[in-house]
Amino acid sequence: MNDILFNIRHIRQRITDACIKCGRNPSEVRLLMATKTVAPDRIITAFESGETLIGENKLQEIKEKYDALKDYSHEQHFIGHLQTNKIKEIIRYNVDCVQSVDRQELAIKLNDRLKRERRNLDILVQVNTSGEASKFGVSPDKAVELVKQIAALDHLHIKGLMTIGLFSDDPEETRPCFTLLSQLRQQIINLNIAGVEMKELSMGMSGDLETAIEEGATIIRVGTAIFGKRVYPDSYYWNEQNPNQS
Ligand SMILES: *Cc1c(COP(=O)(O)O)cnc(C)c1O
Repeated sequence: MNDILFNIRHIRQRITDACIKCGRNPSEVRLLMATKTVAPDRIITAFESGETLIGENKLQEIKEKYDALKDYSHEQHFIGHLQTNKIKEIIRYNVDCVQSVDRQELAIKLNDRLKRERRNLDILVQVNTSGEASKFGVSPDKAVELVKQIAALDHLHIKGLMTIGLFSDDPEETRPCFTLLSQLRQQIINLNIAGVEMKELSMGMSGDLETAIEEGATIIRVGTAIFGKRVYPDSYYWNEQNPNQS
């Protein structure tokens, strides 16, 4: 368990250093712990060290960990691909924010369900900034249109944008993805769309969080660098072709 505490301290230091380097206040950047495949006792260790924000990719894992985590005050985001047939349960499990809204059909169905339950939900719009077919997200040239469409849905509150950048050992190769997301945010802010907040930029992971922070990230999502390597390949979570999605 000590490894988790050590790793969190290390990540916090990386966040602080990156912020200082580009003149930002470290309090502007939230650390979201990507907890896919991580057992509740390990997540609780992180909570006890003061962390409060987690993200899961699959409804099934939210369900499995719900009872073990429910007595620990925390915020849960959904960061995986969301199928429309899982909407009811995502809402039932009180997810605080769905970061992965990437198509109008999903937004409309989410909104319909929320309306029926007289509830609202914070969301981010996920953009595919790397152009890779294997990644989810609306394409950058359709992002503004999607934001406008979602803005008309009363029960969804847009808080910003999210992206999974290009995977590379060299963060400089990923930087253009982050720059693009940041530019899109500015473009949307300039449009002044009623009901649309563009506070959050969720981008950057274990290997490229410094670059993401330099480009304006307000939420970084870190898994491996806190909890260690996962057994499942990431394609298990991210590939459209996978029949076991969510
Ligand atoms: C797993 C995951 C992360 C964290 O990735 P690491 O490389 O383990 O830090 C970030 N975002 C999403 C959407 C993820 O699924």
